Amino acid sequence: QARPRPLVAGNWKMNGLKLSARVFASIAQGYDAALRKKLDILVCPPATLTVTFGVVAVGSGVAVGGQDCHVEAAGAHTGDISAVQLADAGATYVIVGHSERRADHGETDAVVRAKALAAREACLTPVVCVGETRAQRESGDALAIVRAQLAGSLPETADRHDLVVAYEPVWAIGTGLTAMPPQVAEVHAAIRDVLTARYGDEGAAIRILYGGSVKPDNAFDLLSVANVDGALVGGASLDAADFLAIAEYY
Ligand code: PEP
Repeated sequence: QARPRPLVAGNWKMNGLKLSARVFASIAQGYDAALRKKLDILVCPPATLTVTFGVVAVGSGVAVGGQDCHVEAAGAHTGDISAVQLADAGATYVIVGHSERRADHGETDAVVRAKALAAREACLTPVVCVGETRAQRESGDALAIVRAQLAGSLPETADRHDLVVAYEPVWAIGTGLTAMPPQVAEVHAAIRDVLTARYGDEGAAIRILYGGSVKPDNAFDLLSVANVDGALVGGASLDAADFLAIAEYY
């Protein structure tokens, strides 16, 4: 079985102003023919910048995504953004179930699954995030937690084009701590088993990203692990050179 085409994705979180289009333009420029042959690149800016980045991205091959979407396509939901609106603004992916959404907004697995389905209705590819907390890892429950999150968050059917999964140990996000390669290998293998059990051959081709303090200097160790098909990068994606240096692993 050939390895899935890698995806390196940036999650800008609540960072970025109009001026940041310059950073995004550097990323788009750095995604040259050599890199385009090897991997996909995605940047998920705050929703306010989706259109701006989408315009800058034209012709570059860099995909633009959302960081969250509502479960409904439209309606009385003040402050929320729907998957249809993100698609209309030029997005082709959307992150759902990021641990910061799960923690700060009380998103349950059922809500995350509904968001993934709403994304697909709008022809966006959802990037479904899972990952254990530090306490859960220390009590030996990491695999059980990740399996339970997958069971509750994943859509009934999926293929390599309409689903991406990201494993992001909560204790490694924004902390500078990264999971050790054997820990990553263990969880990614378990996720792969769930995907193939659920989706058959397509499950083997669905990309599983690692996220949690990925930086240029640890990219090699993390991205060379079996069943790691790319990275979801927070802090380091705000710097074009760092983000591209991570992609250069491939
Ligand atoms: C993230 O939030 O998806 C993430 C991985 O952040 P960081 O790289 O900053 O740890």
